[in-house]
Amino acid sequence: MSLNILEECRDAGRIGISGHVRPDGDCVGACLGLWQYLSKCFPQAEVKIFLEQPADIYKEIKGFDEILSDFPDEAPFDVFFVLDCAADRLGDGEKYVQKAGKTINIDHHVSNQGSCGINVVRPDVGSTCEVLYDLMEPERLDREMAMAIYIGMIHDTGVFQYSNTTPATLEKAARLIGYGFDFPRLIQETFYQKTYVQAQIMGRTLMESIRFLEGACIVSAIDKKTMEFYHAEPKDLDGIVNQLRNIEGIECAIFMYQTGVLEYKVSMRSGEKVNVAEVASYFGGGGHARAAGCTLSGTFHDCVNNLSLHIEKQLKKWKSEHDKRDNSDF
Ligand code: AMP
Ligand code: MN
Ligand code: MN
Repeated sequence: MSLNILEECRDAGRIGISGHVRPDGDCVGACLGLWQYLSKCFPQAEVKIFLEQPADIYKEIKGFDEILSDFPDEAPFDVFFVLDCAADRLGDGEKYVQKAGKTINIDHHVSNQGSCGINVVRPDVGSTCEVLYDLMEPERLDREMAMAIYIGMIHDTGVFQYSNTTPATLEKAARLIGYGFDFPRLIQETFYQKTYVQAQIMGRTLMESIRFLEGACIVSAIDKKTMEFYHAEPKDLDGIVNQLRNIEGIECAIFMYQTGVLEYKVSMRSGEKVNVAEVASYFGGGGHARAAGCTLSGTFHDCVNNLSLHIEKQLKKWKSEHDKRDNSDF
């Protein structure tokens, strides 16, 4: 559906914006990009952003200091935006959706069925920031907004490497870098750069990883005690699952970190043979075909066994479909 953001907000005195728990670059970029856009277009309106505290690497994006991470009680918002997830993944931010006059969901997760009054969910688009860019009036954009949107695009496309990068993505990115921000430094400092502790955890995780399903899958986990030892937070673990996926022969990589007694947050990355969105959705999570997540109960081995069954089924399905296709050539 087409959405005119400015039209929907024209009479609003109070506008709220929120995104998913453990916000990533796409989520932070979209929330701050939209906050800048609405604050500029409606200087009289009160525009607030509610997000779990994002990593410091995003602090150069304009509006970072406006983020409210303690989710205070608020009078109802006239319009409330849910970005980069469905409303049930907002964490404490969900309470604002229930009371808001008008709710708007902008997202790109295939698992999102639409959770607001107005929904723009485009699974064919690589990032929520790219969806948002399409909904913004180009003449209102400025350098700071362009930078916010660009950060979301690079994070969800792996700096324009993943298959969710399209010619249109690159055309938009080309227009964005035309605003003149320092994009090589942004890519280095927000995407590739790790703190020393992050690098140590990454190294340890790779070393302790286990391959299974004849080497097609790999799993590694970090327990609570280890996280505490390194004083690590979940946001320090970004990028580990991608590194596991980079290993030769791996069709599906799983990274898990312990969130409670017998509870793990699971991240999965895959190639074309495994649809991890389907696996994650089965366990109550979601995401995209090649990048998805969920939370599982049980021991490390319970979790791996449960996931393994579903991944194996998909690998077999892919093989039988390809065997059929290969034979039909003759
Ligand atoms: P992650 O592995 O946490 O980086 O997530 C990979 C992708 O799946 C991201 O697009 C997430 O937003 C999405 N995702 C992760 N966990 C969930 C969940 N529990 N429900 C829906 N989507 C998720
Ligand atoms: Mn996200
Ligand atoms: Mn996203």
